[in-house]
Amino acid sequence: MRLKDKVAIITGAASGIGKATAEKFVREGAIVAVCDLSIEAVSTVVEELKLAGGQAVGYRVNVTDKAEIAAMVTDLKARYGRIDILVNNAGIVMDAQLAKMSDDQFDKVIDVNLKGVYNCAKAVVDTMIEQGSGVILNASSVVGVYGNFGQTNYAATKFGVIGFVKTWAKELGKKGIRANAVCPGFVATPILQAMPEKVIQAMEDKVPMKRMAAPEEIANVYAFLASDEASYINGAAIEVTGGLTL
Ligand code: NAD
Repeated sequence: MRLKDKVAIITGAASGIGKATAEKFVREGAIVAVCDLSIEAVSTVVEELKLAGGQAVGYRVNVTDKAEIAAMVTDLKARYGRIDILVNNAGIVMDAQLAKMSDDQFDKVIDVNLKGVYNCAKAVVDTMIEQGSGVILNASSVVGVYGNFGQTNYAATKFGVIGFVKTWAKELGKKGIRANAVCPGFVATPILQAMPEKVIQAMEDKVPMKRMAAPEEIANVYAFLASDEASYINGAAIEVTGGLTL
């Protein structure tokens, strides 16, 4: 129970890594705010978490919409009086090589993956400063360290959210707030659905462990970083790649 009674917001928590993180966090005793784009998907996850004995509350929140984020934060503070953890997990891909990328593809990915992270952090930072404690975790990627073919927009956002945590670590460390990023390699989630089987096979071959990560293997890292066990980890970008980058 490393997160007992901690109030944690997880964005994009209706699927993949976000959902696995919500499951892990409730098992560790946290009260999880599940937020995502579809209220039906959010409600399903909240029901599952409660059936498993966890504490959870759901919000339909688009991370590009500051009013929706503010309403969630206000409601959470009214219910629980605090916000301890923010996991900026929501993310999208809209891949194309630079020569073929449209401005719309570029702008949409920046809006969700980069501006969305800024929006959510901004919405909780005053509360965390008042509390004198808090943890902010950003979903980066191995692509945010090394770049990737066809991902000009996505790579820029994933580099960017590492820049955020390094900056927030410097600004907020003395106020009791830690900020870190997690850089997964390939994780078996719906975000990879658009990829041909051949490409997925080639990706797996590049990993020394010869397989993708399960979402739970990333969720475990978020839980550790959110907990007091990681009390001196600040401004770090933790690679969880199965050795892909070696
Ligand atoms: P996923 O598609 O399974 O889940 C992403 C969730 O984010 C979805 O439920 C989606 O509805 C939600 N979302 C999208 N736009 C949103 C918005 N504007 N507001 C709120 N929610 C929104 O993907 P995943 O693989 O679980 O990815 C989670 C995070 O991990 C992403 O940031 C992704 O970039 C990152 N990541 C994934 C991998 C991988 O291989 N799967 C690798 C590295 C990093």
